[in-house]
Amino acid sequence: MSDFTVTDFFKRFPDDDKCLEHLWSVRFGAYTCPKCGLEDKFHRVKKRPVYECQCGYQISPMAGTPFAKSRTPLQKWFYAMYLFTTSRHGVPAKELQRQLGVTYKCAWRMGHEIRKYMTDVDGDDQYGGHVEMDETYIGGSKRHSQKSYKLDRSHFQDKSIVFGMVERDGKAQTYVIDKRTRKNVEKHVSKRVVKGTTISTDEAPCYQFLSKAGYAHGTVCHETGEYVNGDTHTNTIEGFWSRLKNSIRGTHVHVSRKHLPKYLGEFEYRYNMRKSPKWMFERLLGAF
Ligand SMILES: [Zn+2]
Repeated sequence: MSDFTVTDFFKRFPDDDKCLEHLWSVRFGAYTCPKCGLEDKFHRVKKRPVYECQCGYQISPMAGTPFAKSRTPLQKWFYAMYLFTTSRHGVPAKELQRQLGVTYKCAWRMGHEIRKYMTDVDGDDQYGGHVEMDETYIGGSKRHSQKSYKLDRSHFQDKSIVFGMVERDGKAQTYVIDKRTRKNVEKHVSKRVVKGTTISTDEAPCYQFLSKAGYAHGTVCHETGEYVNGDTHTNTIEGFWSRLKNSIRGTHVHVSRKHLPKYLGEFEYRYNMRKSPKWMFERLLGAF
């Protein structure tokens, strides 16, 4: 997936100092000291993860990053991010624990911090072109999702409704919503989708406002077996859902409602950078 091999990783980041140096240069670089006003006069303080100006003013390059409050060495964090961006489906906590030699609890927490961070870096772009929208059920335990033909009430209790929009040949964005209502859909569409954009959906009532709201809305009626109508179809987002579900199912036994948005964010990051996998890690490293 990536041309940046494990060997490359350890060559570039052989120890915590190198990682800290990287953090310093991307976050501060030729920094102007807020105390004395001089530029680029900082040097690394020996044995402490801190940089100091010649006037004595000190800055921690980790402040405000997920690493600041962590006792886990920086290189392990970097390596964990490397694993996240080079794996196809993400990294379960068990795997992180094994690869990093940390406790399960620590691995679990690191995973969540990295997911949150990937979600932030992925950002909130505007959508145009041809956008497909749909909702689906995600989450719950593995046992439940395998007997998906018996959709009783207990099956859904554990699950979350996820609303998604995918730009054809472009990016995807998902949101956990509590009900499939117009209000929940409109909130995200009005913020993220440029007026006049062509939108394809099924005939669910929550999308019926789209034409009046200034979008070129086309629908297909799945209930009557209509899946394609000219240029109108939701195949892209259906494909996105199935990749997402496979990815979660293949990597994690259980994804709770509380943590689902972070898994979604992680998957989106990977999906949205699918055309430039080489930059997945680089982008994470450059965005602190
Ligand atoms: Zn200074």
